[in-house]
Amino acid sequence: MATLQETTLKGKSALITGGGSGIGRETALLMASSGAHVVVCERDEEGGQATVTQIQEAGGRAALVVADVSDDAQMRSAVETTVKETGGLHVLFNNAGIFPDGDGSPVDTPLDIWEWVIDVNLKGVFLGCKYGIPAMLESGGGSIINTASFVAVLGAATSQIAYTASKGGVLAMTREIAVEYARQGIRANALCPGPVRTPLLEEFLADPEVRARRLVHIPMGRLAEAEELAQAVLYLASDASSYVTGTTFMVDGGIAAAYVTPE
Ligand code: NAD
Repeated sequence: MATLQETTLKGKSALITGGGSGIGRETALLMASSGAHVVVCERDEEGGQATVTQIQEAGGRAALVVADVSDDAQMRSAVETTVKETGGLHVLFNNAGIFPDGDGSPVDTPLDIWEWVIDVNLKGVFLGCKYGIPAMLESGGGSIINTASFVAVLGAATSQIAYTASKGGVLAMTREIAVEYARQGIRANALCPGPVRTPLLEEFLADPEVRARRLVHIPMGRLAEAEELAQAVLYLASDASSYVTGTTFMVDGGIAAAYVTPE
């Protein structure tokens, strides 16, 4: 069994959706530096290209596929391109996700916002698995990491109903995939990040009152860094996690464990 220190993704091919920003970009950089041949699948060509360029300048191997994860034909072709470019598929990180304005309580959320969020966050993960699993089976197995969220296991009085529902769906879908493919060499785990320090969230938390209302629920008292999520994804992607499948993999600073947090 490989230990975490020895772990490398050398010779492995990794498809990362939403790899042009945030958690996806940090994971793409980390996986490439661990030897993976990375394919970034992005709707935002500029962000995706920036990640690819950064990997290549550091001596790694990477390619970009511009695609919308919620589009059936584009996802099928993203997987086909990955196999053609890299020779297989061993790691699939279904990470692309959106949290648009207008997603609020069930009463206030417009139907088009609901449909957009479910399309990207849930159907996108489904399509990644639909086309990724056969490619992975042909490659001798692999690891799927689907990005859910801490809100998949905890309710908030500040609801984003479509986002939360989509992430709950990702969690349940991942568990079922893990069970179904466990004897065929495919592992699947749901990554559940706590709030990550991204420009968008920092902007939202600029108001000290809003910030305090959020931070009080985090035992560690701070937001996560995207790099900390990338380390968890690398572990789940690598053979160091060879007996880990079907998990609700919390990387949340203790949020889901807490009732009363420290002063
Ligand atoms: P981000 O906005 O920095 O990055 C998401 C990337 O996905 C962007 O580059 C965007 O262009 C891409 N994308 C969006 N829609 C797409 C589509 N239809 N097709 C292809 N690409 C698309 O976000 P992030 O904070 O890095 O979040 C990554 C994942 O982690 C998301 O699934 C998000 O829901 C989840 N998450 C984030 C947090 C947080 O606090 N940031 C917490 C829990 C879970």
